[in-house]
Amino acid sequence: MITIATQAEVTALHGAGWLESIAVTERSSGTATTIDCRALFCFIGALPDTKWLPQVGTDEYGFICTGSEIDDDGLGTRWKSASRRPLPFETSIPAVFAVGDVRKGSMKRVAAAIGEGASAVASAHTVVNLPTRYPLTSGSHFDRMMSSAQSRT
Ligand SMILES: Cc1cc2nc3c(=O)[nH]c(=O)nc-3n(C[C@H](O)[C@H](O)[C@H](O)COP(=O)(O)OP(=O)(O)OC[C@H]3O[C@@H](n4cnc5c(N)ncnc54)[C@H](O)[C@@H]3O)c2cc1C
Repeated sequence: MITIATQAEVTALHGAGWLESIAVTERSSGTATTIDCRALFCFIGALPDTKWLPQVGTDEYGFICTGSEIDDDGLGTRWKSASRRPLPFETSIPAVFAVGDVRKGSMKRVAAAIGEGASAVASAHTVVNLPTRYPLTSGSHFDRMMSSAQSRT
């Protein structure tokens, strides 16, 4: 039988030499329940940390939209000069790519993230060979991304 405990946290692990039980605490009441068990699979870290990239289009959860996931509204004026749509794995900023778990619609698996990274190289090669350039000038989107990143550290 599988029991799903919502609004609850694992707050303690108990055992002598190996895991024997865990404590699960209800957030609202603070009541802790002890559950006997021999193993715990901890699945955390599935939320994207993309707030520092406000210029890059994301879905409502913060996953970065790429390629055909970006609709016309998400393209904005910067794409007018590019005269093209985003390539696979290209974000709403021309020549900026996203792969792996952070990307909307990704498979959330190691092999998939590696494969996306390898596949994105084809799009990067295409952009490098385009006549359009996306210069690293002062005030460019690259500058703003870098200053956002630096302000986090
Ligand atoms: C608990 C758990 C169990 C899993 N089990 C499996 C499994 O059994 N099999 C499987 O295939 N997949 C599993 N996955 C999924 C797998 O871990 C991911 O799909 C994979 O790691 C994605 O790789 P990634 O490179 O996209 O992201 P990540 O591996 O998350 O790498 C992103 C890296 O970027 C760093 N980073 C983030 N923000 C910044 C920043 N601003 N500047 C610099 N660095 C930054 C992070 O610290 C991190 O090191 C599991 C995931 C979790 C959470």
